[in-house]
Amino acid sequence: MTEAVSVKRLTHFINGELVEGKSRSYSKVYNPTTGEVIAEVPIATAEETREAIAAAKAAFPAWRDLSVAKRAEVLMRFRYLITENMEQLLDIICTESGKTLEDARGEVTRALESVDLAIGAPHLVKGEYSVNVGGQINAYSAKYPLGVVAAISPFNFPIMVPLAQTSMAIAVGNAVILKASEKVPMTSLFVSELWKKAGLPDGIWTVVNGSKEAVNELLENPTVQAISFVGSTPVAKYIYETGAKYGKRVTALGGGKNNMVVMPDADLEQVANAFIGAAYGAASQRCMAISTIVPVGEETADRLVAILKDKISKLKVGSYTEEGTDFGPVISKESKESILKAIDLAEQQGATVVNDGRELDIVKDSEGFFVGPTLLDNVTKEMDICDQEVFGPARNVVRVGSLSEAIDFINDQELANGVTIFTNDGAAARKFTTEIDVGMVGVNVPIPIPVGYHNFAGFKGSRFGEGHMFGPDQARFFTKTKTISERWPETTETTASTFAFPSNN
Ligand code: NAD
Repeated sequence: MTEAVSVKRLTHFINGELVEGKSRSYSKVYNPTTGEVIAEVPIATAEETREAIAAAKAAFPAWRDLSVAKRAEVLMRFRYLITENMEQLLDIICTESGKTLEDARGEVTRALESVDLAIGAPHLVKGEYSVNVGGQINAYSAKYPLGVVAAISPFNFPIMVPLAQTSMAIAVGNAVILKASEKVPMTSLFVSELWKKAGLPDGIWTVVNGSKEAVNELLENPTVQAISFVGSTPVAKYIYETGAKYGKRVTALGGGKNNMVVMPDADLEQVANAFIGAAYGAASQRCMAISTIVPVGEETADRLVAILKDKISKLKVGSYTEEGTDFGPVISKESKESILKAIDLAEQQGATVVNDGRELDIVKDSEGFFVGPTLLDNVTKEMDICDQEVFGPARNVVRVGSLSEAIDFINDQELANGVTIFTNDGAAARKFTTEIDVGMVGVNVPIPIPVGYHNFAGFKGSRFGEGHMFGPDQARFFTKTKTISERWPETTETTASTFAFPSNN
């Protein structure tokens, strides 16, 4: 692998400043398209993380006490700055993630949806008020910010996920600490500069770079009130269990294995186009990417596989700098190797390789971390690839005989993030949406990612905890409801002590 000529040394962003790491421990950041090291990111120690938490704690009261409208103004300026600096932002995202320009632009658009929703926070944190609930007593419930909260994010959406995790938290008055993915830290550092320019007070947005040590401090530190995690299932489970042990509010979203059921009445040409974009877009590195296509009936399966084979063979894998690239590399050399291994194993276990992504020249010869689009037919439940998340372009065909069999196959799986059905039969769609045990469901929609103002989360091994990402649920997750009973009597008459349980009679 070629080392880049100039490797940028990155920092943290603490108390409104870019701060050098003290640990002397660094992790390499790659350009996945070229395989070059482009930067090194500091790995924060527990002590550095504690210092960042202390700065956030000190900044919190003044931000909490600012009016919701003033806070929303900062978010509006921040939103404007993202659009103003779009080209530079896209360049950073593409360089460190390998995404195509079009894909990165789509991601930023989705990130802006979270900011838009957060700008409307005043509406979402309105309370409830009742007059005269007892003698001259009024009662109200109001939402208050939690204090210092933390977000831990994955590599595959360098801006969308961090902003989905933090925009609302900031808007409702918290101070946020982001532990960005060490694989794509440059986007979050750039975003930090935009928050500063937007007028966000120092200490309200913090980026602590690092890995397990920083995360453990966030999980254990008593100042941190809530943890929003997005990443792989084993880590999500660990975060949920550890955060809960330390008394924190935790939402931890995990991985996905998302199925697309195809009924015999569906338009297969349309299905094939929908599947290819949803399955291979972003080199399949999306938690909602379709992993498995589930045609109902042998005839549907045979026709569909023939159409897919042809279309997949025409996909262009390459650099985001080249015109017409459908998708780029995966994030790392290790990731590439594990995907190629998963394909080898599936073949050994009896899957039919329809399109072989191991054979492309770019996969064999390039220094970049490329894997070609692979389609495996006749995948069965007994094969490892059937229910394990493969975060790269190796996709499965699982053949079933009926809709009920498809539903049972999907409901037996541990990961339950997204699912979709393609059909023209309303009754089949209704049965499917009723019986399927998956968090986000599509009907003739290939990737059923809800828009930013709807709640987003899977079930079972795809989510630990009750909260959602995006959506109004974010305002609930990042606030606590206080119920206040107030009595302001008109007279100064002294009231006697009451020993019975308070009642409003
Ligand atoms: P990851 O779990 O490896 O890392 C996520 C974050 O956790 C990173 O910030 C990382 O530094 C940290 N981390 C990793 N190991 C840790 C450990 N042992 N202790 C503490 N912290 C640790 O995930 P990734 O590879 O960055 O991202 C891809 C995964 O994220 C996929 O499984 C994908 O499906 C999932 N994902 C899920 C969603 C969703 O909404 N459900 C969205 C995006 C990505």
